Amino acid sequence: MKITVLGSAAAEAIPALCCECATCATARQRGGKDVRRRTSYWIDEDTLVDFGPDAFWQTTAFGIDLRRIDRIVFTHRHFDHLNPMELTWRRGGFSRVTKSIDVFASRPTLTRLVAIPSTDGAIVSLDELKIAPHELRAGVAVESDGFGILPLAANHDPGGSPFIFVLSRGGRKVLICNDTGDPPEATWQCLAGQGIDAAFIDSTMGLAHADCASGHMGVNAVVKARDRLLACGALKPDAQVFANHFSHNGHALHADLEAFFAPKGIGVGYDGLVVSC
Ligand SMILES: [Zn+2]
Ligand SMILES: [Zn+2]
Ligand SMILES: [Zn+2]
Repeated sequence: MKITVLGSAAAEAIPALCCECATCATARQRGGKDVRRRTSYWIDEDTLVDFGPDAFWQTTAFGIDLRRIDRIVFTHRHFDHLNPMELTWRRGGFSRVTKSIDVFASRPTLTRLVAIPSTDGAIVSLDELKIAPHELRAGVAVESDGFGILPLAANHDPGGSPFIFVLSRGGRKVLICNDTGDPPEATWQCLAGQGIDAAFIDSTMGLAHADCASGHMGVNAVVKARDRLLACGALKPDAQVFANHFSHNGHALHADLEAFFAPKGIGVGYDGLVVSC
């Protein structure tokens, strides 16, 4: 599998649009890996994980032809991961779209997707948008043309049925593990023995709240999660592990994160990072 990190930030992006904090000021000066779009991933040529407010910028920057996308898998309903308005442009009269896409998401995420009216105030149906919805339930694996999706409950967005995912194809597996704090025990039970090849772990709280493990994770919680994933066989011993989904409120620039994570054998996500496994 080939995973492209299309975004590596939490909700506000980095630099946050109007923020006066020192982290955002330095990110504006440095640019490069310190400029972070909202988190999403492109898997092989045909799958997106999440479709947020930076979708236009991501598809143009990374050469993604959305006409070739077969499916979008949503982690949860928060607006940094789901921007329904941009999907309404698929409607006839706005765009010429003949190909359907499959959307895999929890019931609350699907509800938010259809609740957003188009520009003329009409509620558009998923049929009109050529979107085929597939409701996911935690712990119930589904397959889509040889692409495996195992949704597992996250520690995040109470009431929203947020998921982390084990995604698989051709015997290879990747763990998408944002947004979440330390996952619920039922999730750990499903992760045990999975033999995952690559993992991306929530690091929203960065260095500022290093031990945070509820709702999101700080850097120390990321290391603890990686160690438990290895110990229970969720990860292969040689799995590639990356921290990702960073908030400016974590007060960590890319170099700071690399200084912390590199000695621990964990990579640091950035926009445009490509991982093959
Ligand atoms: Zn998020
Ligand atoms: Zn800031
Ligand atoms: Zn969230």
